[in-house]
Amino acid sequence: MNSAHRSVLAFVILSWCLALPSVGQTQFPAPWPKPLAPEAYWQTLMTGNATYMAGALPYSGLGAEREATAGGQHPPVTVLSCADSRVPPELIFGRAIGDLFVVRVAGNVAGPFDIASIEYAIDHEWTRLIVVMGHEDCGAVKAALDPDDPGTPSLVSLVQRIRESFLLPTWTGPDRVERAVKANARSSAAYLLAHSTVIRKAVLEHHVGLIVAYYNLKSGKVEEVKQ
Ligand SMILES: [Zn+2]
Repeated sequence: MNSAHRSVLAFVILSWCLALPSVGQTQFPAPWPKPLAPEAYWQTLMTGNATYMAGALPYSGLGAEREATAGGQHPPVTVLSCADSRVPPELIFGRAIGDLFVVRVAGNVAGPFDIASIEYAIDHEWTRLIVVMGHEDCGAVKAALDPDDPGTPSLVSLVQRIRESFLLPTWTGPDRVERAVKANARSSAAYLLAHSTVIRKAVLEHHVGLIVAYYNLKSGKVEEVKQ
């Protein structure tokens, strides 16, 4: 073997070594669970959330993810969350392209087209878990707590819908908005069941799980809200 061949061989070995995960490095995104129980998907989301909280999302394989998912999608988790720019579900749950079917609307309250989107995911037999996620300092919920109307007819309609989830609240104190956000998220999840036969049937037959969650802006932590 001459020096040129040795140089090429060294380059190939070095490239191969650099492509390998280092010792102790976990796979990212974490693989979805094999037992396809909705609870197992929630645990995987919590694992991703812990990685996100630690500021340790590598996101080095987006190109490969993009190519691998170009031919189709089958995301096992649907997320209904707020349009707030500080609440990006893929980052929050440490997932990547093709992992989450996300419906975002201010105040995370589903209207007909949002419900249609979730039904689409269920009809295609992707979704095993629906997460309805409210968040800290939600502007839509704060607008609903404000007795004044926010302006346009569409915004008024939105906050009226949110107000229905906490009629005449007597809450006081610093956690008032948080309590309202959680009440609204619970109500939004109940709304899905009440207004969609497809979603209700899937959840009642335990084919699809339904979890209400609350996202903390500062810490990044997602916590389950008991329904
Ligand atoms: Zn919000």
